[in-house]
Amino acid sequence: MAYYRDLAEMYVGTDVSPDFYAWVFPKYDHVAVGTGTMQNNQALIKSLQEGIRERAKKRLVNGEVIKVEAHPIPEHPRPRRVVGRMALVGDAAGYVTKSSGEGIYFAAKSGRMCAEQIVESSAGGTKVPSEADLKKYLKKWDRQYGATYKVLEILQNIFYRNDAAREAFVEMCDDKDVQRLTFDSYLYKRVVTMNPWQQLKLTLLTLGSVLRGNALAPQGYKPVPSAVRDDAEVNAMLAVSTIKGGIKVRGQKTAPTASPAAENDEREPALAGKG
Ligand SMILES: Cc1cc2nc3c(=O)[nH]c(=O)nc-3n(C[C@H](O)[C@H](O)[C@H](O)COP(=O)(O)OP(=O)(O)OC[C@H]3O[C@@H](n4cnc5c(N)ncnc54)[C@H](O)[C@@H]3O)c2cc1C
Repeated sequence: MAYYRDLAEMYVGTDVSPDFYAWVFPKYDHVAVGTGTMQNNQALIKSLQEGIRERAKKRLVNGEVIKVEAHPIPEHPRPRRVVGRMALVGDAAGYVTKSSGEGIYFAAKSGRMCAEQIVESSAGGTKVPSEADLKKYLKKWDRQYGATYKVLEILQNIFYRNDAAREAFVEMCDDKDVQRLTFDSYLYKRVVTMNPWQQLKLTLLTLGSVLRGNALAPQGYKPVPSAVRDDAEVNAMLAVSTIKGGIKVRGQKTAPTASPAAENDEREPALAGKG
């Protein structure tokens, strides 16, 4: 855990995720080791989890798995976000955007927008807001961000299908107009309008890049070996202490028996090294 106190890691490559990334993120007293992918890759999830554990194994020596879980990222506003006097905001409302996976801004913004609506509808604390009052927040939200969700969904459908399509997207971002458009849209959270010439250029660029995508895509990926602990150090760590819990890391040696002292140990923070 000490190793990760001020450090987050992000891993890319088809061994850890064909279309997203994998991570080791520090939490309060443990780390989250995970990977993300599209729902149609559900069958791959176990092998992707293996992949991230394999890649991070030299950092996770003597780690303990305390919880394994998987959840869909709530991309796209849910159909029912206000029922009676209950209103959903943030991830609960499905406000993560496709393509960018951005949810923090939308969580904070929707919380504020909903709260402002409640304050306004309560008329200085003299009235309990009704379902119709709360739905005004939804109307404002959809008016402000509906187009953003739609455009990012279309982008994801076109460009996030495979490596070739993703390479095409990267290639397109070389164009100054595309950069301006994506930067402004990302910064101001609205769909930036284009003049007809830019629109035509963007369409042609999209078609060209998608067609050339296959030629641009890398044919294979070679994971980068850990740069942190060498084999000798890892083997020395494994030789002196037992692994708690069930993290299965290929090629790992464990001490044959745990010492009584180790058995009486308090549970360690997950995945914390003992060295
Ligand atoms: C791997 C990954 C990477 C991401 N990267 C980005 C990024 O780079 N940029 C970005 O903008 N977004 C990113 N997101 C999305 C972002 O994290 C979420 O959209 C955002 O945190 C949603 O905020 P929220 O407040 O709606 O929900 P949460 O952050 O999930 O907060 C909900 C809180 O409620 C608590 N809770 C749950 N049930 C109960 C209960 N019954 N009682 C009390 N408390 C409860 C939970 O413990 C949690 O603390 C990422 C998400 C993931 C998984």
